[in-house]
Amino acid sequence: MTRTLHTFHGGLHLPEHKAESTGRPIAVAPVPRVLVIPVQQHIGQPAKPVVQVGERVLKGQMIAQAEGYVSVPAHASSSGVVVAVEERPVPHPSGLNALCVVIETDGRDEAVDFVPMPDWLKEDPSHLRNRVRDAGIVGLGGAGFPSYVKLNPGPRTVVDTLIINGAECEPYITADDMLMRERTDEVIGGVRIMIHALQARSCVIAVEDNKPEAFAALGEALKRSGRSDIELVQVPTRYPTGGEKQLIKVVTGKEVPSAGLPIAIGVVVQNVATAAAVYRAIERGEPLITRIVTVTGGAVARPQNLEVRIGTPVADLLEFAGGLKIEPERLVLGGPMMGITLQSRDVPITKTAGCVLAPVAGELGERGPTRACIRCGACAEACPMSLLPQQLYWHARAKDFDKAQDYKLFDCIECGCCSYVCPSNLPLVQFFRFAKTSVWAQEREKKKADRARERHEFRQARIEAEKAEREARLKKKAAADAEGAASPDDAKKAAIQAALERAKAKKAAAAAAGDSEQ
Ligand code: SF4
Ligand code: SF4
Repeated sequence: MTRTLHTFHGGLHLPEHKAESTGRPIAVAPVPRVLVIPVQQHIGQPAKPVVQVGERVLKGQMIAQAEGYVSVPAHASSSGVVVAVEERPVPHPSGLNALCVVIETDGRDEAVDFVPMPDWLKEDPSHLRNRVRDAGIVGLGGAGFPSYVKLNPGPRTVVDTLIINGAECEPYITADDMLMRERTDEVIGGVRIMIHALQARSCVIAVEDNKPEAFAALGEALKRSGRSDIELVQVPTRYPTGGEKQLIKVVTGKEVPSAGLPIAIGVVVQNVATAAAVYRAIERGEPLITRIVTVTGGAVARPQNLEVRIGTPVADLLEFAGGLKIEPERLVLGGPMMGITLQSRDVPITKTAGCVLAPVAGELGERGPTRACIRCGACAEACPMSLLPQQLYWHARAKDFDKAQDYKLFDCIECGCCSYVCPSNLPLVQFFRFAKTSVWAQEREKKKADRARERHEFRQARIEAEKAEREARLKKKAAADAEGAASPDDAKKAAIQAALERAKAKKAAAAAAGDSEQ
């Protein structure tokens, strides 16, 4: 039976620019001289370095361990010597440095022993999740959420549908497309493992209809595997169909509630590249140490997809793609809609970096000067989350973050559709990112202030308690002293009183005797 597909509000048809990088097969990038591996490449707590400067490490060796539940470890992606554990520039919108393990490679590419889990179907889902965590796997579609957490729906939660995201809707990026074409069995293998880990009732692989080769390859592989329980669907090409909530709407017709998670409606979404990484971790015992990256844009000599070691500097990656034939307008990590402009070519490729884009001047469209909002409503029409971007913009600009949250600031997926269509060229997404970062900073400050207040109150209470204890001690002592001092006096007084009483009685007796003699 053919699945009925649905549609979501807004979205755009954009120039694709995909063909430029799909003309060559995936090539394996050489080992760079230096690897710079950030300890945080995921959402959650940063991992903690467990190697020292001067230590020799092997490919696949854990160099930073997970800290807390929402965290994953990081691994060396080749053999060499740790030359620094220090802050380095990393690809992040803030442009700030972050802690990295820097490895000078030795060219031997010696690896630890990888231990496969061949009988995974007999394993308890929790064992598979632990293996996925230990392999350092995060959502490779760009979100970077630890995959093992997403593979753990909770003991009483039923996963009705596992959706495998092969939409790859952003222009220029073709890493998932090439992966699905060339490493189809890894994708299908990973999907089977994830179905078992989640005990999912059904599974749908969704591919945009601008990737006919990938769709055909997956169809063949499914036929070969005899898995009729995995459904393959072609979804219409429209940006941002690859957004988690948009894809769920298209495939199931269901809406994820505002500020809610897909699991609330019985759905889990995983990316095709994540599925391939899960396959490698379980079937081969390999941690996540490489990923496929699209290197493209008018300035790149040989646009293509490369399998790149995590930690490879962007400058090396550009060299592997034939270098730059012309100075690019800027360097973007990610696609033209959601990517971030890189401040340095020394930043490393991380687990979530799917594309390095080097456009020539004007390639991504000229943005004219910004003008005042004319309230045309084009942004609201384009918004795939059915938000009111112009209202969000007013409140974000006025730093009225409470109001911005009333307008569902945190439902914004930063897809850039609103900015793209805005006739006033307003950098709307930048305002939304700024507002979100400010709210997070305020929350951090509030937590810090709350903790400081709690500490102060605790200290005050302790001082008060000590004071009360001291006073009680002193009072008790004073009472005891008073008691000790009062007894001799009373005895003395009583003795005097008794003597007086005796004298008085004697005198009375003598007087009485005198009277009787008279
Ligand atoms: S598209 Fe731009 S000009 Fe039009 S309402 Fe939205 S923010 Fe204002
Ligand atoms: S960036 Fe946010 S507000 Fe703008 S269209 Fe996308 S989801 Fe809507």
